[in-house]
Amino acid sequence: MHKTVLAAVLATVGFSAAAYAQDITVGVSWSNFQEERWKTDEAAIVAALEAAGARYVSTDAQSSSSKQLSDVESLIAQGVNALIILAQDSQAIGPAVQAAADEGIPVVGYDRLIEDPRAFYLTFDNVEVGRMQARAVLEQAPEGNYVMIKGSPTDPNADFLRGGQQEVLQEAIDAGQITIVGEAYTDAWLPANAQRNMEQILTAQDNNVDAVVASNDGTAGGVVAALTAQGMQGIPVSGQDGDHAALNRIALGTQTVSVWKDARELGRNAAEIAVAMANGTEMADVEGAQTWTSPSGTELTALFLSPIPITADNLSTVVDAGWITQEALCQGV
Ligand code: BGC
Repeated sequence: MHKTVLAAVLATVGFSAAAYAQDITVGVSWSNFQEERWKTDEAAIVAALEAAGARYVSTDAQSSSSKQLSDVESLIAQGVNALIILAQDSQAIGPAVQAAADEGIPVVGYDRLIEDPRAFYLTFDNVEVGRMQARAVLEQAPEGNYVMIKGSPTDPNADFLRGGQQEVLQEAIDAGQITIVGEAYTDAWLPANAQRNMEQILTAQDNNVDAVVASNDGTAGGVVAALTAQGMQGIPVSGQDGDHAALNRIALGTQTVSVWKDARELGRNAAEIAVAMANGTEMADVEGAQTWTSPSGTELTALFLSPIPITADNLSTVVDAGWITQEALCQGV
């Protein structure tokens, strides 16, 4: 008998989900684990699975969408009871969800949209992240030439963020106060690619740039390196994730904002949802779940957590939350 079915049967005869979780293994397919933030997510997932008595196995696709497909197959072959997938490429991930569905294995689409109603969509409000990034930069640079350093073109978050940024900037653009003079996606979200794009835009603009809306802290790091090489560090730059290096740049004044998404909360929620679904809980019955329609019209069951912008004015928020110690925050300051 399949474990999900068995769980449902056990539940009807009075076995609690927690007791049954002893036999549950959750497989996590990471897309680009080398990035700082995913290590925090992983620690939270592992802790929550341990608390539920469930096991954790994982793979890292190393930014390769084809590797991610074989990773998911190998997790399925290992007998996982639920999958958490951070998709490298929203288009390419389809067969992995199909393979899981064929085996009756529930899927949590983690942080990035998987456009398949069989996957539970757990993320932060990414459009709001984009608004927060643009708002903080606009406050510092109400006029001038803007550069938009976007995320990976295969990650739907890149365009959600860009959409939120545009909403905030539109009025100033229409009024002729700001002009977008350069815009580029960042392949695989790699800081080195962001740096190269920024260097090219600076060259094309004769360094006539006043602000940069960068979509995460990794790309912000690449942008700040490119600015520093031209002696331009200190102009407004945005990011997200609350990476320690970025929080230090905020303390130093070379980055304006890092939108903080408490990855510990996302990880804990993912683990709990994965275990509940492995135990037969329907997606719609997950606490806080809502029906959400994607921009291309797919109806999904989703849960959105709220981001918080961190600037020089409220750095204490991340210290108080135990995200970074005061000592680590002062490194390099
Ligand atoms: C996540 C960001 C992350 C980026 C690069 C996005 O989908 O939402 O938090 O910085 O991917 O990994």
